[in-house]
Amino acid sequence: MSDRLAKARRIVVKIGSALLVDGKTGAIKASWLASLIDDLADAKVRGAEVVVVSSGAIALGRRTLGLAKGKLKLEQSQAAAAVGQIALAQAWSEALRTRNIVAAQVLVTLTDTEERRRYLNARATLSTLLAEGAVPVINENDTVATSEIRYGDNDRLAARVASMMSADCLVLLSDIDGLYTAPPTRKDAIFIPEVREVTPAIEAMAGRPISGLGSGGMITKIEAAKIAVGAGCNMVIASGHDMHPLRRVIEGERCTWFVAPASALQSRKRWIAGTLQPIGHLVVDEGAVAALARGKSLLPAGVKRIEGAFSRGDTVSIVTARGREIARGLVTYDAADAARIAGLKSADIEKVLGFRGRDELVHRDDMVLVGGER
Ligand code: GLU
Repeated sequence: MSDRLAKARRIVVKIGSALLVDGKTGAIKASWLASLIDDLADAKVRGAEVVVVSSGAIALGRRTLGLAKGKLKLEQSQAAAAVGQIALAQAWSEALRTRNIVAAQVLVTLTDTEERRRYLNARATLSTLLAEGAVPVINENDTVATSEIRYGDNDRLAARVASMMSADCLVLLSDIDGLYTAPPTRKDAIFIPEVREVTPAIEAMAGRPISGLGSGGMITKIEAAKIAVGAGCNMVIASGHDMHPLRRVIEGERCTWFVAPASALQSRKRWIAGTLQPIGHLVVDEGAVAALARGKSLLPAGVKRIEGAFSRGDTVSIVTARGREIARGLVTYDAADAARIAGLKSADIEKVLGFRGRDELVHRDDMVLVGGER
């Protein structure tokens, strides 16, 4: 029995094209999808939040457009994705609805997870969907992505999403049950159940892409593992070949786990504390100092003064009136807006700025308490 999935609070599940789309008929495998939805619904009953990353747009659309077999040109796969994404989203929406779960379609491009402002926006939207109990169904916006700014595979996209959302478990469902020391067709190939560090030797085990429909293969899965464990998220490569693939993982069916050394929140906080140079300062009052010590977010009401020309998403230092640094964190407003709302109640933010921004200036998940002098 695997607790890593059963106990996860926020799960990202990536489904490869070959699992969802029948290679012969080009249709959605409806009964398999229904069994997966059962597993997702079970996860929600356990109290977990679920994000789906689904491939299959190109595989579905190419058939509808009557494109020939074999490798597609970039513009052909983009056209196929535009057609197939409609069917894909509809299939997810209908399947989730049978379990009274609301599906939300989210199409992202590489820059949405790489560029800070877009990243924060995407994260806020996904957080809101999760808070409302919906299941985001994410795919790359293949139709507008150009080859240079394209993921091209949903393995790394899913890992980026898992990292962005501080998920604690990423499940890559594909047509292979995990990592082998050599191509699994070879007699001497040995199965690897658990990886604690992605060493060059592990990377060397990733062979060539094996499936005809997806674009992943083991190489992108190892890349995904590096992203996920680096963000404190455990990752598992499991076979989606049979019904109820998540239940099977929980019940201990063979799969490969990449184990993260620290939790998502720990990794994120370590990153904030360690690697970033604060660009500005928020000078706070005694009430805020006490609130932060109790683990609360920093609200505008407790901020007396703003120093520095920071942008939203930058790391700022939170200091007392005497200049003692008490915390560091990612700020949710640009310096100019932060200065305008400093000292105000959250409910008054909209009146002053003309838009409804976040209630907090620095969210507690984006903050670490520190002790040193400035
Ligand atoms: N975004 C592609 C699609 O939906 C799939 C990418 C992949 O195969 O990982 O067709």
